[in-house]
Amino acid sequence: MSEKMLKFVKIGQQTPPKRSVENRSQDFNEIYKEFINNKATEQSSRCSQCGVPFCQVHCPLQNNIPDWLKLTAEGRLKDAYELAQSTNNMPEVCGRICPQDRLCEGNCVIEQSGHGTVTIGSVEKYITDTAWEKGWVKPIDIKKEKNQSVAIIGAGPAGLACAEELRKSGYKISIYDRYDRPGGLLIYGIPNFKLEKFVVERRTKLLKDSGIKFIQNFEVGKNASLNELKKKHDAILIATGVYKARNIDIEGSDLKNIFPAMDFLTASNRKGLGDKVKLFDDGTLNAENKKIVVVGGGDTAMDCVRTAIRQKAKSVKCLYRRDKENMPGSAREVGNAIEEGVEFLWLSSPNKFNGNQKVQSVEVQKMELGEPDSSGRRKPVKIENEIYKLEADMVIKALGFDPENIPKLFNVEELSVSKWGTIKINLKTMETNLPGVFAAGDIVRGASLVVWAIRDGRDAAKEIEKYLRAIQSQKGQAA
Ligand SMILES: Cc1cc2nc3c(=O)[nH]c(=O)nc-3n(C[C@H](O)[C@H](O)[C@H](O)COP(=O)(O)OP(=O)(O)OC[C@H]3O[C@@H](n4cnc5c(N)ncnc54)[C@H](O)[C@@H]3O)c2cc1C
Ligand code: SF4
Repeated sequence: MSEKMLKFVKIGQQTPPKRSVENRSQDFNEIYKEFINNKATEQSSRCSQCGVPFCQVHCPLQNNIPDWLKLTAEGRLKDAYELAQSTNNMPEVCGRICPQDRLCEGNCVIEQSGHGTVTIGSVEKYITDTAWEKGWVKPIDIKKEKNQSVAIIGAGPAGLACAEELRKSGYKISIYDRYDRPGGLLIYGIPNFKLEKFVVERRTKLLKDSGIKFIQNFEVGKNASLNELKKKHDAILIATGVYKARNIDIEGSDLKNIFPAMDFLTASNRKGLGDKVKLFDDGTLNAENKKIVVVGGGDTAMDCVRTAIRQKAKSVKCLYRRDKENMPGSAREVGNAIEEGVEFLWLSSPNKFNGNQKVQSVEVQKMELGEPDSSGRRKPVKIENEIYKLEADMVIKALGFDPENIPKLFNVEELSVSKWGTIKINLKTMETNLPGVFAAGDIVRGASLVVWAIRDGRDAAKEIEKYLRAIQSQKGQAA
């Protein structure tokens, strides 16, 4: 065992410093400052190098965390980067936005013994950002391109990870996406203060430089049917994510200034990228000087409340029907939102929106937690006659997302979907019921996490490669 490790008894936990609330609320830049080199080395050396590393077990990518921490502690950053990137197509993204408290860090053994977890995510980010700075991250160099091609529908993390893995094996890859920029929710959903857009753009540029073709502003179902793409390519991956916003079906839902979260976040992200956005520029989707009420308690709701703070809203309130302990959003992001001045109204659910054409207030029903439901979580139930009113100039609905009707949109009614509308796959082969058509990411799992989308994309790439080899060898035998 290296003498450089097991320092958790002597060295306390330190995350990279956060920018002050006053400072970070004024802009959309990331809120964590960089680790400096000796801090990353020092913090890595706290790892206890467990025989069974629970951090690795609980990372969806099974990243070899103890080994890259050890290499970092030894100052071997290039080796640490090589190891980190061998299991993860975008470690700098995961280091920034994985809910580590529920994954790797949440299972760190030294945390269980009261020493405070190793700051795995920050080290992962540090290693990869350094690799980019030093020029260690290089496009894929194909020795001999294969003659088979794969169409990937969706340039989110699932599609991008699958594309990269298949390109490494020499296949021709075309990614079709209905947005004008690649990245999926990394570019238009997740705000800059969690993930600055240059991080996404340099990744997608690297894939372009690796010979992957990006066809933007191309909506499958509108610009081509799935069957038309099948004729042009040897295999297809559907990685379209989930975008149908869940609605609130109460009186007044059709009033003006009640928006789905993605409308609000996309407008804000586009402004950050320098685009003209009519509905933002005319004030409709800008929270400035308004009383904002966000409904929901997940990551999307946290991103909305914190975006509204940065747009200089008059007040920002978040309504959630369960309590703080039962919020689905990352505890770290809830904490950041509270620090930044968001007011949380737990055990509160909207009952009615009031207003004359435009929303003016929300009637709120107080809730309490009852018996556990089928998911095991305690069900929120109304408290009779406990209703109050909140003034609102804009309401943002962040209640989650469902899949769009893919069989109908893609004009392939025979494509099997689950009762929730997610695409059904064979879990071993990632193939749908249509031969040569695979699926990955949120469109299979339902709304999930970036790290799971990457994992799915990588798994799909392995299975697509097996499929392509099999059809190639069948053709060879037939010839
Ligand atoms: C606001 C918000 C914040 C989040 N924050 C976090 C976080 O902090 N950490 C985390 O781990 N996860 C977070 N997530 C979840 C995470 O972003 C998703 O789980 C992940 O992006 C899913 O990846 P994907 O590739 O399956 O789909 P997506 O990222 O949704 O990409 C799908 C792509 O498919 C394209 N597409 C869709 N339909 C078509 C079509 N018909 N034709 C062509 N292209 C099409 C879309 O344009 C899009 O580019 C957040 C999600 C949201 C909404
Ligand atoms: S990918 Fe996510 S879960 Fe895995 S080590 Fe990195 S931060 Fe932790």
